[in-house]
Amino acid sequence: MITGKFDYHQPDNVQAAIALLSELGDDARVIAGGHSLIPMMKLRLAMPEHLIDLRLISDLKYIRVDNGIVHVGAMTTQHELINHEELLKVAPIIKETSLQIGDPQIRYQGTIGGNVANGDPGNDMPGLMQCLDATFILVGPDGEREVPAREFYEAAYFTARDDLEILTAISFPVCSGGYAYEKQKRKIGDYATAAAAVLLRKGADGSACEFASIAMTNLADTPIYCEEASQLLQDQGVTDSSIKEAVAACMAVIEPVDDNRGPVEFKKHVAAHITKRAIELAWSRT
Ligand code: FAD
Repeated sequence: MITGKFDYHQPDNVQAAIALLSELGDDARVIAGGHSLIPMMKLRLAMPEHLIDLRLISDLKYIRVDNGIVHVGAMTTQHELINHEELLKVAPIIKETSLQIGDPQIRYQGTIGGNVANGDPGNDMPGLMQCLDATFILVGPDGEREVPAREFYEAAYFTARDDLEILTAISFPVCSGGYAYEKQKRKIGDYATAAAAVLLRKGADGSACEFASIAMTNLADTPIYCEEASQLLQDQGVTDSSIKEAVAACMAVIEPVDDNRGPVEFKKHVAAHITKRAIELAWSRT
């Protein structure tokens, strides 16, 4: 399949890209790595008349750590995330998750901004961003605003981003403690049947859990941050019985659907197994 016809624009700064979006309206879409948008255009599920390519905007490509906060430009590729030494030290879960995305060819082109802005429940970064309690920076004709990742996703392919806004950056606190991104997929390069991101930190006495955060991928039409499970591990510590209760709390909020990755009961079974494994692995790494 080939895409429909479109005009191609290559602005070299964010304001020029926003001006194009404002001028062209509903007929235009921004394109980043193109690894979600181009397949959709080939299937004619998306037929924009104008593509506004963000690749010449060098200001959107960076990874910085300032005062305990990690800042990542939207056009940073998954390959760049994997190979950034400082990022590996302050947020190793980013590399663990990125390596689970597609294959090397996809990771060379696919960007963190495209992955989170897309709104596809199968994408791995949105759940991770909710686990990290990340903030998305959006810039539009009316200026800049910030939206927490935990409030960004409304339904499959519907987000809090206005059509005239560009997601320019993501920020999140550095991670200390244990982490894990566990993903069950049918084969290498596939989207998740179920995946879970977990961060855990031990208290000063070495046994209590002073911080916990759990989020899940592809188990509803949006990523799911499970506040109850996270709180439960903080209140009770991480033991066999609290893990069981935390997994049950996670299972109570997922809403998987039947599809070519399996029936609902199978997905719930996989989700419970994956979430338990992610909690245990994260705790073993604290
Ligand atoms: P694009 O495809 O360019 O854009 C995606 C959407 O986001 C478009 O609607 C576009 O308009 C919008 N957009 C892009 N950037 C911005 C921005 N800065 N601001 C506002 N809107 C923006 N992903 C996974 O997470 N896990 C996987 O396992 C996985 N497997 C894959 C396997 C295959 C075979 C393929 C082709 C893709 C796979 N992907 C997977 C998707 C891949 O990671 C995509 O690259 C990613 O989802 C989208 O990033 P992109 O930069 O390619 O965005």
